[in-house]
Amino acid sequence: MSIQPLARPGGDSELPFYLPQGNEITLFEHAWRHQLPVMIKGPTGCGKTRFIEHMAARLGRPLATVACHDDLTAADLVGRHLIKGEGTEWHDGPLTRAVREGAICYLDEVVEARKDTTVVLHPLTDDRRILPVERTGETLEAPPEFMLVVSFNPGYQNLLKGMKPSTRQRFVALRFDYPAPEIERAILLGETGIDEALAERLVRLGQSLRALKDHDLEEGASTRLLVYCATLIEGGFEMREACRAALVEPLTDDEETADALMEVIDATLGSGH
Ligand code: ADP
Repeated sequence: MSIQPLARPGGDSELPFYLPQGNEITLFEHAWRHQLPVMIKGPTGCGKTRFIEHMAARLGRPLATVACHDDLTAADLVGRHLIKGEGTEWHDGPLTRAVREGAICYLDEVVEARKDTTVVLHPLTDDRRILPVERTGETLEAPPEFMLVVSFNPGYQNLLKGMKPSTRQRFVALRFDYPAPEIERAILLGETGIDEALAERLVRLGQSLRALKDHDLEEGASTRLLVYCATLIEGGFEMREACRAALVEPLTDDEETADALMEVIDATLGSGH
């Protein structure tokens, strides 16, 4: 869990760098102003986390991020009594702290969390906007600034893990995908010091690798991996080596598939260069 400091008011340049793919900034702002929780779905590494970081800073709210996992319980979110000396002392969990502070609470990969977490999420995500803290007997009313945001990757979901309709229907939902080529090129230029020609080549590579999804790969090369690849090349790595380390090996463990990906890379890099 990390709580980031309040953003100082200032221009966009002080905000975490984020290039919008559509109207998501306006929609998120509306949702925040009208106290609606937001769900963001999309493949890994396509900008979901960066978007939330940008929005929290833009709205001047602290951000509490929780990476959900299959052992995460309601108590992990709400808090628990911990032994102190002879007795015990109550410790707020990240969700409780976010409600008290009027923060934006971001539950990343929420479908991973234990089902008992819905018990605390439901009363917070309808018009009651309350968090019952059973163990202390408190019922916290969320201030208007508080917002709950959840994300998940629909590609990973199995039937057991899908979000229940009764939970899903409490959120305004945004679908994210890998950015369009011209936006992805601008992201690579904004995130690294590479030149336009290289950014163009890497984006083209990303497109070719994504076209293989469903055939040999579970997931296509993410924008995050393209940024990694650009960073390696910028740091002096040879192009093919950087591609293998940042675009091929993270995507597959199967040697034949890795060879096939390298062939796609060679073919894409060879064309027109
Ligand atoms: P996700 O949360 O979807 O897994 P992230 O938000 O962590 O992905 O994005 C991974 C990386 O990709 C970011 O650290 C950033 O470098 C880059 N990135 C992706 N989309 C954008 C965007 N729209 N604007 C700026 N950077 C982006």
